[in-house]
Amino acid sequence: MKTLFRNLSLLLALAAIPLLSNAATDPDWTKPFPPFRIIGNIYWVGTWDLSTYLITTPKGNILINTGLAETAPQIKSNIEQLGFKLSDTKILTATHAHYDHAAGLAELKRLTKAQMVISTEDADLLASGGKTDFVFGKNPAFRFRPVKTDRRLKDGDTIELGGTVLTAHRHAGHTKGATTFTLNVSEGGKTYVVAIANMGSINPGVKVSGMPTYPGITADYAHTFEAQKAMKIDVFLASHAQQFRLHEKYKPGDPFDAGRFVDPQGFHAAVEKLEKVYLDQLAAEKKAR
Ligand SMILES: [Zn+2]
Repeated sequence: MKTLFRNLSLLLALAAIPLLSNAATDPDWTKPFPPFRIIGNIYWVGTWDLSTYLITTPKGNILINTGLAETAPQIKSNIEQLGFKLSDTKILTATHAHYDHAAGLAELKRLTKAQMVISTEDADLLASGGKTDFVFGKNPAFRFRPVKTDRRLKDGDTIELGGTVLTAHRHAGHTKGATTFTLNVSEGGKTYVVAIANMGSINPGVKVSGMPTYPGITADYAHTFEAQKAMKIDVFLASHAQQFRLHEKYKPGDPFDAGRFVDPQGFHAAVEKLEKVYLDQLAAEKKAR
């Protein structure tokens, strides 16, 4: 009972990160947060918890993730506070097409006319406005304004703009096309490998042993954890601030520190924790059959 309770609270704690329950939003998703430079040409322009990354280049900028539809104006104002222009955005992309990361894409695409680039699988989810989601598809609370994708990525494809190269890694399970992006940045004469990771968290209602709407889910999650454990990275960033413990590592006004988000151990520990949740859930589902 104790173990069950402990597992249950762990599960709930982890699920709370991207929790898409009856409450359509979490207050931390809309709470403003001052924008700041993370490292190299990467900036935080998201809210308190929902990551939006601005990557600036001499040929225009890349924006990764948008948060909710109502936070699009916050993103615009954060970009401007840093001295950049939203209209310089040339590429829009996302780590996965759930509404807490993609609902603002339609408005930002309208404002910027940027190219929409996302994984092949999540391009379909994005085009359906959330309707084809394997677990939330039938729930109107999880819908958002659909967006047409201009370029579909497969595992290993790159996004290149003004000397910056992002590599897309298909880390599926959370959605069918969930993606981690990696890129190299220069800071103080050193090169850092940055991961903007999509962590393998499991949403409520998901059966990791297989679902008719997602038969390949077991293998996809297993691949994601193996691939992430094998990644050699320096800077750990993710889709939610909480996932890489942004607020423990940085407070508004802190002086710039290139090493602030360098945390390969933290990344691997977070992956292993989520892998354990997956393995425990998988074992429990198999036992219950
Ligand atoms: Zn999600």
